Amino acid sequence: MSTLAVDGLEVRYAAVRALRDVSLTAAPGSVTALLGANGAGKTSLLRTVAGLNRPTVGRVLLDGDDITGLPAHRLARMGICLVPEGRQLFAELTVAENLRLGLHGTGIRSERDVTERIDTVCATFPALREALPRRAGLLSGGQQQMVAIGRALVRRPRVLLLDEPSLGLAPRLVTEILATVGRLSADGVTVLLAEQNAAAALRCAHRGVVLRGGAVVRDEAAAALLHDDEVSHHYLGAATPSAPAPPRGLPSILREEL
Ligand code: ATP
Repeated sequence: MSTLAVDGLEVRYAAVRALRDVSLTAAPGSVTALLGANGAGKTSLLRTVAGLNRPTVGRVLLDGDDITGLPAHRLARMGICLVPEGRQLFAELTVAENLRLGLHGTGIRSERDVTERIDTVCATFPALREALPRRAGLLSGGQQQMVAIGRALVRRPRVLLLDEPSLGLAPRLVTEILATVGRLSADGVTVLLAEQNAAAALRCAHRGVVLRGGAVVRDEAAAALLHDDEVSHHYLGAATPSAPAPPRGLPSILREEL
């Protein structure tokens, strides 16, 4: 099980400062929800941890080792896997082929080993077993998200970086996907979960970090943030028109976010 930490990160896109002095620690086998409105910096943080953005200042640490600036393929080999926003599957390839692509660079090639890895993913997402020979582009949004996460899981990651996995999914599927995320962390994977669906994310997370304008404004136990009206009201932003109806009994601030 691995600890992931970032320390004083600053990330810029030319004149835009996307992250400013961001520090957090994700405990081994925990889920840390990264919350915030559009443009708050969630994607930039995940991409920086994954080696796709280079910070101008600050460090990324895996179990205390400085991994700042290492290329993405090396970080992937070390067990840091990003599931990008929008899934980015190969629509014309089958589910099985998409999952195999996740093994690129791992050295796992024998049919037996590949099958074993894919079997493990199907144990995590049983809906994928029957879908293995189907083209990924023909699957439902929820199944496509499972393939996208599965493509990272075939590598048996130490750190899983999930960028908006609930985007565009029906509430039932959001619950299913996030419940699986919770189980993965219980199995020892350290998860950073960027979500606009704040209430759903906080329910499956141990810790919640709220970003605003590229800076951390709250970093607390998820349960505390879930019940903190002020946090939701000030930092989580307004509801989007396409957002699903909120469950009853949630604090008003989180209802806004839903
Ligand atoms: P979203 O939920 O919309 O993806 P986010 O919280 O993930 O938002 P980021 O995508 O990390 O936020 O964006 C943080 C800031 O960086 C925003 O001001 C955004 O406009 C800017 N930004 C992101 N990517 C780029 C880029 N490639 N070039 C210039 N600015 C960028």
